[in-house]
Amino acid sequence: MNKEKLNRRERYKAELSPYEYLKELDTVDFDSIGEGDRFYLQDCGIYTSEIDEDLFALRLRFNAGRISPQQLRLIAKIVKENDLEIVLTARAQMQLHGFESDNIYAVWKELNENGISTWQTFGDNVRNIVADVYDGVGKYAEIEVYPYIQQMQEYILNKPRFVGLLPRRISIGISGNSANVSSFFANDMYMALAEKDGIKGFNVYIGGKNTEIAQDADIFLKPEEIVKFFIAFVESFHQHGYRGSRAKTRVFHWIEHNGMEAIKSCIKEEYKADFVSAGKLILQKVHFNQTESLADGSYAYCYHTDFARISADEFNEIAEIALENKAEIRLGIDHHIYLIGLNRAELSFQAQRETSTVSSCVGSEYCPFSYWSIKDETAYLPLDKINEHNIHVGFSGCLKGCGKHQHADIGIVGLKTSLYGSSEKAARIFIGGEHSYGKAVAKQLFFLIPLDELDKFLRLIITEYEESEFNDFESFSKAVLNEYSADFLALWFLAKYDKTIKTNIPVKACLKDRQKQFVYEKNLLIKHFDDREFSKNIDEKLSTGVSMITKRLFKDKQTEDKSASHFAFSSSKSATIPGAVR
Ligand code: SF4
Repeated sequence: MNKEKLNRRERYKAELSPYEYLKELDTVDFDSIGEGDRFYLQDCGIYTSEIDEDLFALRLRFNAGRISPQQLRLIAKIVKENDLEIVLTARAQMQLHGFESDNIYAVWKELNENGISTWQTFGDNVRNIVADVYDGVGKYAEIEVYPYIQQMQEYILNKPRFVGLLPRRISIGISGNSANVSSFFANDMYMALAEKDGIKGFNVYIGGKNTEIAQDADIFLKPEEIVKFFIAFVESFHQHGYRGSRAKTRVFHWIEHNGMEAIKSCIKEEYKADFVSAGKLILQKVHFNQTESLADGSYAYCYHTDFARISADEFNEIAEIALENKAEIRLGIDHHIYLIGLNRAELSFQAQRETSTVSSCVGSEYCPFSYWSIKDETAYLPLDKINEHNIHVGFSGCLKGCGKHQHADIGIVGLKTSLYGSSEKAARIFIGGEHSYGKAVAKQLFFLIPLDELDKFLRLIITEYEESEFNDFESFSKAVLNEYSADFLALWFLAKYDKTIKTNIPVKACLKDRQKQFVYEKNLLIKHFDDREFSKNIDEKLSTGVSMITKRLFKDKQTEDKSASHFAFSSSKSATIPGAVR
């Protein structure tokens, strides 16, 4: 183990293991729990709302998102009996909110006794291992990974050595499909379908998180080797991962500090065999429809939730349809519910929403780090355009990024600023994610857009794409947006917004020399937005122009408070970003 000073959570672990604590769960007085109790309870899925500490919530784990109609009905019954709310998550899990001290333990017990595990869904654990929702059944399914995931979960679930004792959480995604509904490159480890010497197996990517893409570890595994590799990876992180500052304990930091080759050596010690270099990644981008035909000729239907919110009645309805049609139910990591194996394409029930490509975090109702009620404020998005072009949008309540805003075509972070008078909601926008193939996270544009301008501003960006020669936003990002600096893009869109000039970014820029790139971008801006005030402000650097034009654009909203205006225009550090200091 590394010798750095243990963080607070590690000191709890050293004093008493979570497994030992949780053996006595039936003796816990939920009316008077303290910090230590809160720490341990997370490992069995129980946590308190940081908004109201008297309220509890529960996380439910579903292996690769697979859930039976009977389980769905049981949850619906519990939700009704206890007046709870349901939120689906990006780990194909579920959160139940609204428990009080007198019902949390009874429900926890009922669920776990009926085969719905809540264990290791929070805290420093291997979280629910996810797969593509069409694993083993879709047109693009090559290797079914569910049986391997079962073995992996068996290895870690409810085991004293693994309950809450890792240095930090590990998120794992595995796909044996050549096209996936969602990208897995934000996981700490992603095993992706690949081929080597005529054998299909998996390439390994390590170190992803909400703000980073998992890196190619240059390892190829045959299907029968992936469980062994998983064990070696988890054991190795358990022994060698960092346990000091919480801000530096993810797998990403372990790699950042030691380098990929050193990490691979650690894993190899546990694996006890040499690694084979990576094969050819088999991955294509496909748009999936609400109804899809499957490999065996049956159909799948994707039930769109209300940005991850769903009711007990809907659960009952979905369970009934699944039973009637002998269909399987799977939770997607896109917050939707899939009915698999239907014998007809049309169903007589209607999903709540048309939108399928917006991934949002839970927002201020359930998370104290958000100023925004994210799910309600999706109303400020141009959903018609997002749907029309299947644009992937990630929407987070803070820079921790649970809405995966940097693994999206367009990312939005809801912030609070005093730029526009008294504290007001404003959005930071990210664009240019090359998420499908794990090539680039979306980059931040250095300004804040007031909430009520958000729809108009995003339409401007989407119109730029519509008028391009590209058929999907990600290709447009790769060929156009990502050829330019973030300051140029910020200025380009602000200038268009300001002057309502109809002009589009030329496709070709790509000048590797920074000075040449700057001159090219500056001349392009002057050519398209010729304006003396504008031109003189970008002589030395483009960011000065960004500040100038932002002030002019939103001047009627500014206060006289100079410090407030400095605060808002100067840099990303100055806006109120609650989650960044968590
Ligand atoms: S992104 Fe921030 S606000 Fe949203 S759930 Fe995560 S921590 Fe909370």
